[in-house]
Amino acid sequence: MKKTIDLAIIGGGIAGVSAAIYAKRAGLNFCLFEPKAIGGQLLLMETVDNYTGISLGTKAINLATQLEDTIKELQIEVIPEEISKFEISGKQINLTTSENSFVVNAAIITTGASFKKLGASREEELTGRGVSYCAICDGFFFKNKTVAVVGGGNSAVEEALYLSNICSKVYLIHRRKELRAIEYLQKELLRKSNVEIIFDTVIEELKGADCLTGAGIKNTITGVSGTLSLNGLFVAIGVNPNTQAFKDAISLDESGFITTDEEMKTNHNFVWAAGDCRKRPLRQLVTASSEGAISAVSAYKYLKGGYISA
Ligand code: NAP
Repeated sequence: MKKTIDLAIIGGGIAGVSAAIYAKRAGLNFCLFEPKAIGGQLLLMETVDNYTGISLGTKAINLATQLEDTIKELQIEVIPEEISKFEISGKQINLTTSENSFVVNAAIITTGASFKKLGASREEELTGRGVSYCAICDGFFFKNKTVAVVGGGNSAVEEALYLSNICSKVYLIHRRKELRAIEYLQKELLRKSNVEIIFDTVIEELKGADCLTGAGIKNTITGVSGTLSLNGLFVAIGVNPNTQAFKDAISLDESGFITTDEEMKTNHNFVWAAGDCRKRPLRQLVTASSEGAISAVSAYKYLKGGYISA
């Protein structure tokens, strides 16, 4: 038999956990769906430097653990299943996972985003064999080795900084002539003697039979091609929203991000979205957390017809 829930919060990153805290305090009947560990992208970051009230350099894993502790303290029910189908049926939503089906009256989508792939041939084959998307997760395997990071944003520079403390040599390969990462990170990077930035350059091919041995690169201005010998390649070129399961039911923008109003409401007045899966001007923990809270208050207003005294 299908289980009926008032509110489903889908995703256990900081947006989902914030939504769950507010939903709990408001006395809503809800479940949090998260097939992996609580913490979302915090589990893939090293430090949190720009979250209000948190000391500079706070370990991201410690914040993730605190989120998990909060979920337990508040006795929030976590269903460790991934939503594969999300169908609107009148004023209700049918949720399907690989194990169960649920009927819910309202939903908050906080499924975050996943790392973009480079699109190079053999990228998938060499993933885990030299190609990685997470320096914190895999950097350890490249101790005293030569690696490259691809990208020019905050993530790429943070990855290069992290790897510079582990690897003997780190190349940062960027397709344009200037980085888009914040100045503070760029300054930090310039202090690292084992980091070399290669501008105006793209990866043409990945080399290596069983595992990565190098990359074919090309200067986009001069057209000159060459080969870099590498033990590892870290791709940090941004994220794609995890919205595949919702695409037939919810309005998305051209890049697949969920569009909402300022109360986090989607094109359905009983579905909200918060965090990195949502089209938003600032992708930060602090905005994801506040959007989670706003979405829970919006859900409360819809379900109970009033205002939360938070
Ligand atoms: P991002 O800011 O979107 O930067 C992606 C970078 O990858 C850009 O430099 C882009 O080049 C490059 N790129 C994109 N597709 C590429 C491709 N196919 N081949 C080669 N290069 C490609 O992504 P992000 O750095 O992951 O950051 C995502 C969001 O999280 C941002 O809002 C960022 O501010 C935030 N974030 C913040 C922090 C922090 O505040 N400490 C840390 C990490 C992330 P172009 O420059 O040419 O477009």
